[in-house]
Amino acid sequence: MASKPLQGEQRQKVLAAVWNVLRANHRDLFEQDRLNQPGGIMTLDAHLDALVEMSRHMTADRIEPYLARIIDDICAHCAERDASGYCPLRHVNSCVLFSHARLILETIDAALFELGDPEYLASHGT
Ligand code: SF4
Repeated sequence: MASKPLQGEQRQKVLAAVWNVLRANHRDLFEQDRLNQPGGIMTLDAHLDALVEMSRHMTADRIEPYLARIIDDICAHCAERDASGYCPLRHVNSCVLFSHARLILETIDAALFELGDPEYLASHGT
């Protein structure tokens, strides 16, 4: 069962942490003409709750299980993919969720730890 999504200030803190680390490392993502493109940086806000859910409960060291979960939990509901599940943005590595998945999820992990998120701490044995 899905856990309770972050609300208000806590959600904003996590989103800001991800945006800040992406802005520091991949400034091009924030160029005006890219901001609202499909698969662009605003995609993160739309799907933050699902990403937080993954971060709270997954502990894999490798990125592949996270990418598989993104396909199952996020791509499955995304308008960019076709009926067969094919996504042209994923194919050319231009969806931020895929092209920067490790950085995004590591940042969410750190933000949840800093917030003392009870579900994150319980799953990660801290
Ligand atoms: S990879 Fe494609 S289907 Fe998945 S979230 Fe990104 S744009 Fe949507």
